[in-house]
Amino acid sequence: MSQNFYHFFTSRITDPNRPLFIKPDGSVVTYGAIIELSGKMANALAALGVKPDDRVVAYVDKSVGAVALYLGCLRMGAVYIPLNTSFTLKELEFFIADAEPRAVICSTEKPDIAAALRNKLGESFGETLGTDCRSGSFAERVAESSSSFTAVGRRGGDIAAILYTSGTTGRPKGAMLTHENLAVNALALKDAWQMSSSDIIIHALPIFHIHGLFVAVNVSLLAGSQMIFLPKFSASEVLSYLPRATVLMGVPTFYVMMLKDKQLNADLVQHMRLFISGSAPLLASTHTLWRERTKMEIVERYGMTETGILTSNPVLGERVPGTVGIPLPGVKVRITDRITHRTLPRKKNAKIGMIEVKGPNVFAGYWQMLEKTKEAFRRGKFFITGDLGFIDERGYLNIAGREKDVIITGGENVYPKEVEQEIDAIDGVMESAVVGVPHEKFGEGVTAIIVRKENVALSEQDVFDVLRKNIAGYKLPKKIIFTESLPRNAMGKVQKEELRRQYCVAC
Ligand code: AMP
Repeated sequence: MSQNFYHFFTSRITDPNRPLFIKPDGSVVTYGAIIELSGKMANALAALGVKPDDRVVAYVDKSVGAVALYLGCLRMGAVYIPLNTSFTLKELEFFIADAEPRAVICSTEKPDIAAALRNKLGESFGETLGTDCRSGSFAERVAESSSSFTAVGRRGGDIAAILYTSGTTGRPKGAMLTHENLAVNALALKDAWQMSSSDIIIHALPIFHIHGLFVAVNVSLLAGSQMIFLPKFSASEVLSYLPRATVLMGVPTFYVMMLKDKQLNADLVQHMRLFISGSAPLLASTHTLWRERTKMEIVERYGMTETGILTSNPVLGERVPGTVGIPLPGVKVRITDRITHRTLPRKKNAKIGMIEVKGPNVFAGYWQMLEKTKEAFRRGKFFITGDLGFIDERGYLNIAGREKDVIITGGENVYPKEVEQEIDAIDGVMESAVVGVPHEKFGEGVTAIIVRKENVALSEQDVFDVLRKNIAGYKLPKKIIFTESLPRNAMGKVQKEELRRQYCVAC
């Protein structure tokens, strides 16, 4: 039997007339319509010469058409590669050289880039698709194509998509995700979050990332849910949809921004069943504030491009702020000593170690990077996530941060999260990031970058006064810098690499 994720999805559709997408203008796209559109997409790609196993780059803006393009690729057995449309031509050329795609579908908003690619590489590299799915050369091909296309059979281990990691250190790596990876993870999440055809999800995430595509979209597809499909996040817009929706899948910044809006209260969220957060750490204080304002608790989960979602706080059962919950069924999570690599016990005040994971959700390796792939796994197929953490006595995973962000100062290890939590608890602090920057005497110097709440006069001295009481001397910042905002990526993750670069000279 084919294990094409496309077959997995379509075999579950009970009523093709059910709405799948609800667009901001109120119009609806049904499950049946998206199947038809995906058939047209597959035929249009085939006309460009795309065959099974060929890569297709989707450099397109978020739209229903972009999801149909993704499904069209799966349907024809091609490998889908979504890219952020904020990439420049130079960046795009890197991905094209690396992935060697057979076709690149560009946004109509990027006519110069599309033309440059077409001139340099050929027609199939500069086809364009608009968000209305009507404008652009590829949209024209799609309109003329038949919707009937026999989906190609796939084995579970065949590659469905390549997602590039953000590459904050070194060049981006293409994580190869199989049809099995997509199916098992979406199914596990559907069950863990009790998603069903009664759910209406507010989708305000980008779809070039695992969160928006393989979590939010795939889970909805398998559950038969509906999605209110928004081009991007806006706190007021999302708030306005809460009375009609049941689930929000978001990143922590969504919740921070919505909390700033006075409209947010328990009445507004009465229809909501679940608020989910991931892709970056949710501060325990945000969790608490959210509970106070809405009488609902956010479900925090943890995952990454290479593995899909690994752990989640339970829907039924205790949601513990500051933790990312328990492993999903089928996922093994262990913590190993960073030096000896021995597995550490789970217990109260457990030692922080490397988070390693194993399961059918874990990717097949990095595209054309055998060495990097080998380095990423321990014997026994455990993937080394690069994240540090511990499992507490209840079995809940706590994340301490990325290993590369640990600061080694005067021979001592400082975990930034520990210092950040202390700073964030100070009255008048909105948020903070702690990084290590080169230091003549200590190797690395702990540097705290702090955003103050509006109209608050908080001085360096005030911060030091509190920190000195709460943390050991070697963990104290060597320097405190106040700033207006922290640099974040499209998923709202604080860019520590950027901060290290920016403040390197300031230490
Ligand atoms: P990405 O591959 O872009 O999805 O980034 C994955 C990384 O985001 C993980 O390795 C973690 O460092 C971080 N991450 C994801 N979810 C969480 C979370 N709930 N709490 C803390 N960090 C997270």
